Amino acid sequence: MPKIKHTTRKEPERPPLATKELACSHCSQTFSKRYNLRRHLALIHKCDEQAQPMSAADRERFKAGARKEEQETSRDIADELASTYAMPTAERRANENLIRAMRAANREFCSRIRRALPLNRSKKDIDRFLIVMQQQCQEAERHDSNEFV
Ligand SMILES: [Zn+2]
Repeated sequence: MPKIKHTTRKEPERPPLATKELACSHCSQTFSKRYNLRRHLALIHKCDEQAQPMSAADRERFKAGARKEEQETSRDIADELASTYAMPTAERRANENLIRAMRAANREFCSRIRRALPLNRSKKDIDRFLIVMQQQCQEAERHDSNEFV
């Protein structure tokens, strides 16, 4: 019988979440999230993190505060993750591609829903839609978590 070596798995060391304070270089206000610092720089100081002036069109992107989640690009999210967890560039890039792929899958899912459920729908359309959704969910749930191991 082969010997089994028991070792405790070491987690890679990473800075704990949200302890990193990011200070504005113009007015020393601090932020826990990089996106919020970038938004502050854009709206208050009209520049980016490299202190380069920001165009009105780019500033517009930061203005819709309440719709922040929709406004954030995959790159914004990957940048924020990379800065929070001190990730190397390759990992940041891989995450950006992952986020992009997840968003593409989400868009595809939404367009399937729209196609399956026309605006001028009948009771029959709705019933058929619910059956299709049920099948889609069962199919998706069959691909369980072993894909992520
Ligand atoms: Zn400032």
